[in-house]
Amino acid sequence: MPAATPLPRGPSVLTLYSAMDLLTSPGCPVCRYAAEASDRYLRWFALEGHAQPDTITRLCGSLGTCASHTRRLMSQPGASVRLTAVYRYVVMAARDRLTGRAERLPACPACDHDTAATGRALDTLIEGLSDQATRYRCRQLGGVCLPHLATAATTARREPVAWLTETMRDAIGKVGTPRYGWVVGTDPDAEARAALRSALRSTGGWTPVACAPCLAGAHAERNALERLAGPAIDAPDPSLVLCAGHLADAATAAGHDSGPVLVAWQADCLTARIAARPTRWLPAGRQRRTVGDCAVCQARDAAARRTLADGTAAAQAGTGPALCVRHHLSLRAANPRAGDALARAVVNAADGLISDLADAFDRAAAARSRGAAARDSGAWRRAAAFLDGAVFGGLQAGAQ
Ligand SMILES: [Zn+2]
Ligand SMILES: [Zn+2]
Ligand SMILES: [Zn+2]
Ligand SMILES: [Zn+2]
Repeated sequence: MPAATPLPRGPSVLTLYSAMDLLTSPGCPVCRYAAEASDRYLRWFALEGHAQPDTITRLCGSLGTCASHTRRLMSQPGASVRLTAVYRYVVMAARDRLTGRAERLPACPACDHDTAATGRALDTLIEGLSDQATRYRCRQLGGVCLPHLATAATTARREPVAWLTETMRDAIGKVGTPRYGWVVGTDPDAEARAALRSALRSTGGWTPVACAPCLAGAHAERNALERLAGPAIDAPDPSLVLCAGHLADAATAAGHDSGPVLVAWQADCLTARIAARPTRWLPAGRQRRTVGDCAVCQARDAAARRTLADGTAAAQAGTGPALCVRHHLSLRAANPRAGDALARAVVNAADGLISDLADAFDRAAAARSRGAAARDSGAWRRAAAFLDGAVFGGLQAGAQ
């Protein structure tokens, strides 16, 4: 009998030998490499990864992926069957976590993969910029996008960052409506988030809430983005640099009319932040963290925190707000008594979902054995919202 071909243990890493491999066409070379690496990872997950024990173990540890990667996994063909199987394990792990010791959740494995790919591309590009021919080619193609310049500014030496800043300003001067798009970076989830924000506006009155803090955060995030899309924009300020996701969201909300103004303003803010960097280069571990400074992130997180705090008193009386697993774990860490008071309801919800996922899995297996397709129960989508309410902007699956 021939030996079975061993399955790869992880997604393949995209080949990258030099900066010239990245500089193949106009637009941010780091975005292009990172987007391809990210697509490959998600394709690997759909084909093989979802069935590998170490992937499942990792997902059970992080209680699934972040909201952005969850939406991308949910949009893949065959997601209902695949994620029904995966969430059976992840919701069981969440149930254990809800009654066990409060511990910090590890990062989303897909985000870790994307961050590593971005780091590889950015390091290779920066290293290549010591060569004049590479600089010439990089300038010809427009340099890097604002989010990747911001990342480079936290890790790379002053001189190549100053050169990339100058190249970016030059590109923004040339890039006019409607082709400024690549300067804000590549975010394959931005359209899905825009659809969620517009659903948030249209669901007036009673809406089925998955998580009250996630919903409050989504409203605050939408309001902050709308302010940025308006005509009055603040003077450039290093503290007003948006994170990559919110820059993409703000550009989508601003559209073709206000988009270029927004991009030019963010370029000024980022230039001011880079100029204000300490003159002495520090190793990555000792640099001041700038992640989380984004004003939209702060507005969202503050609104979610307020709602969680308001719900704490009610939770102690056993009638707290709807909470996703992530916010329930935050509540437990901040106030164990309130967390305990709500634990029974959330554990019951987990038990209900585990049973629904098992039924859906069995029905799909039985249908497959008859060569038919089972009706989608939607349990996998409810599981995604249960684990992280942000997946559907704080609303329940199907409420959009
Ligand atoms: Zn980029
Ligand atoms: Zn992620
Ligand atoms: Zn939540
Ligand atoms: Zn942000």
